[in-house]
Amino acid sequence: PITLSRCAKTFQGTRVLEPLDLAIGAGETIVLLGPSGCGKTTTLRIIAGLETPDAGGTVSFGDDDVTRLPIERRQVGMVFQSYALFPNLNVRENIGYGLKIAKVEPAKARRRVDELLAMMRLEAHGDKPIDQLSGGQRQRVALARALAREPRVLLLDEPLTALDARLRDTLRREMNALLRGLNVTTVYVTHDQAEAMELGDRIVVMSAGRIEQVGTPREIYYRPASRHVAQFVGTIN
Ligand code: ATP
Repeated sequence: PITLSRCAKTFQGTRVLEPLDLAIGAGETIVLLGPSGCGKTTTLRIIAGLETPDAGGTVSFGDDDVTRLPIERRQVGMVFQSYALFPNLNVRENIGYGLKIAKVEPAKARRRVDELLAMMRLEAHGDKPIDQLSGGQRQRVALARALAREPRVLLLDEPLTALDARLRDTLRREMNALLRGLNVTTVYVTHDQAEAMELGDRIVVMSAGRIEQVGTPREIYYRPASRHVAQFVGTIN
C-alpha cells in the first residue's frame, strides 16, 4: 500500500496542493480526476519522487518512508502522455531501456524483455520500429517499459489525452483489461470522466488543490459529495 500523509505543495509562495491524505491499497487502481490545474500531476509527481511535499508531508510505500528518496530509488514505473516512446529505438530497446540504464546484466535483461513481450502479446513485434505499431501495440510497449523493473507502483499521467477520440475509446477499453490483469498498484491521472469511471477501482475527485471525494465509480456517480462533483462526473449538468 501507498500512503500520502499531509502532503501539500507550494510553488513560489503559492499553495497549489492543500495538505492531502490518501491511502492506496496494494494492487488497487486509483484514478486522480479533476479539471486542468487542480493538482493531479503534482500529486502524481510527489508519489514518483519528482517533487518533495512541503515540510510535514510524508510518502510511504508499505512500511518504507520514501519521502526523501529521489525517483531513481523509489522503484516506480511511469507512463506519460501519448506514451512518449523513443521513436528511434525498436520495441525491444524501448522495453529494455530502463534495464540498460540500471546496468542490468544483458542476458538477464534479455530474459526480462522476452517475458514482457510475452505478457503484452508483442512477441512478433520485438524488432519493429515504433512507427510500425498500432495504437494498442504502442500502449502495450509503454506499459511493458514501465513494468520492466518490477515497480512497486505504476504511475500513468494522462496517457490517452493527446490521442484522437476514436483511438482513445479503443485504448481505454484495452487499458482496462491490461490494468486488471496486472495486479500492480496503479495511480492514473486524467481529466476524462469516462476514463476514470472505466479504469478506477476508486476515483479521487480533485478541485483547486483539494480532494473533493474519494469513492468507487458507483459511489462517485450515484452519491456525489457536492454539486461540483455531480457536475464534473456528469450526474447532473
Ligand atoms: P493539468 O491536467 O493541466 O496538468 P493538473 O491537475 O495536473 O493539471 P498540476 O499540474 O498539478 O495540475 O498543477 C497544479 C497547479 O500548480 C497549476 O496551477 C500549475 O500551474 C502549478 N504548478 C505546477 N508545477 C509548477 C511548478 N513547477 N512551478 C510553479 N507552478 C507549478
